[in-house]
Amino acid sequence: MSADRIVIVGGGVVGSSIAWHLRSGGFEGEVAVVERDPTYRRASSFLAMGGVRQQFGSTVNIRLAQHSIRFYERFDDAMRTPDHQPRAWFRQRGYLFLADDENAARFERRYARQRALGARVERLDVDAIRARVPDLALDDIRFGIFGPDDGYASPREVLAGFRHAAAAAGATYVTGEVTRLDVAGGRVRGVTLDGGASLDAGAVVNAAGPFAARLAALADLDLPVTPVRQHLFRCALPRRWPHRFPVVIDPGGVHWRHDDPLAAGDPDRIIVARTKLDEPPGENFACDADRWTTDFRPPLVARLPAFETAELVEGWAGLYEMTPDHNPLLGEHPELGGFYLANGFSGHGLMMAPATGTALAELLTTGASTRLDISAFDPGRFARGAQFRDDAMI
Ligand SMILES: Cc1cc2nc3c(=O)[nH]c(=O)nc-3n(C[C@H](O)[C@H](O)[C@H](O)COP(=O)(O)OP(=O)(O)OC[C@H]3O[C@@H](n4cnc5c(N)ncnc54)[C@H](O)[C@@H]3O)c2cc1C
Repeated sequence: MSADRIVIVGGGVVGSSIAWHLRSGGFEGEVAVVERDPTYRRASSFLAMGGVRQQFGSTVNIRLAQHSIRFYERFDDAMRTPDHQPRAWFRQRGYLFLADDENAARFERRYARQRALGARVERLDVDAIRARVPDLALDDIRFGIFGPDDGYASPREVLAGFRHAAAAAGATYVTGEVTRLDVAGGRVRGVTLDGGASLDAGAVVNAAGPFAARLAALADLDLPVTPVRQHLFRCALPRRWPHRFPVVIDPGGVHWRHDDPLAAGDPDRIIVARTKLDEPPGENFACDADRWTTDFRPPLVARLPAFETAELVEGWAGLYEMTPDHNPLLGEHPELGGFYLANGFSGHGLMMAPATGTALAELLTTGASTRLDISAFDPGRFARGAQFRDDAMI
């Protein structure tokens, strides 16, 4: 039994961030990250939009996001290794929420609360919105809330950066699927992989993203984390746009960000998202291209008519990892000692990965997370009938 070994199941941004924070924070035991698919084809980290914002409605989410923003500001330097130079492309172009008659009162309240909680946000009148993002149709818009520190990064670069840096710091990546959680005396003692190999451990971290409930079920635990399909569409703009977009969030839910050309001659592009509130749960990765025509394009063009001639390049779908209150589960499982959860980010895990790494690494090594207060995300809250509310979920 290797009490000094921590096994992290899932090598996406969350698992890799925890691994890096453990090793670079001075944990001298072994950190083994078990990842079944090193191509990450179905990992949410690989399929995400990359948005990072501090515009939340609760102290804890604002604090975690602020921590992550500071981390992403120096990501390329902090994650550099002798054989990998990450380019997270964290572009702080802001998040712009547009308020109409229907959501104005709610946004006013949220704005006041965000200011009181120390989030850097600005209230823009319609002229100020127009000056910042020309070409928007704003007839129905009352004001905007703009977070200048917010922005977006390249999810695949972030994933590669964390993984390389964690490995360079001494974490071991093991390719395999965890098919058994080894439990004895009310504690998890290790994992068994599909090939039959076992890894003993003093602690096992569930960082399995949208597959977290499947992993927990191996120990007969019912984890309230549900995979829910989320679509993204990339389209090419008809010309080189004269300005760069923040993440613009239409009151109806459609939102987009710039996708800058990487090479000379590449077209200027945007990535467009819209959450379908009644999407049925399930591990469904099929891209329903009709949704571009029916749900995405009409509100997009209505908000920015010059997008009329934007051309669809591709669409794809990945999985959000939803909890009943759309907030994560962070901490030790109340019924299984040594089994730690970093799950259920409900579509915000990329932006929360640095803070999660900081918090979980400290929790795993000292028994408490003191730098970041994550007690609100106690994994036992649903069993007690409690929920955590933050009204700024997209
Ligand atoms: C379309 C889309 C858009 C998104 N946009 C944003 C955004 O703008 N901003 C943001 O912050 N977040 C966004 N998210 C959410 C974000 O991507 C996730 O919250 C985050 O990536 C979760 O990271 P993870 O490491 O927990 O999960 P994952 O990246 O899914 O990694 C989990 C890993 O665990 C592995 N695994 C699972 N089970 C096992 C097992 N039994 N054995 C071994 N390995 C296993 C999987 O292979 C996988 O690689 C988006 C997600 C999607 C799908």
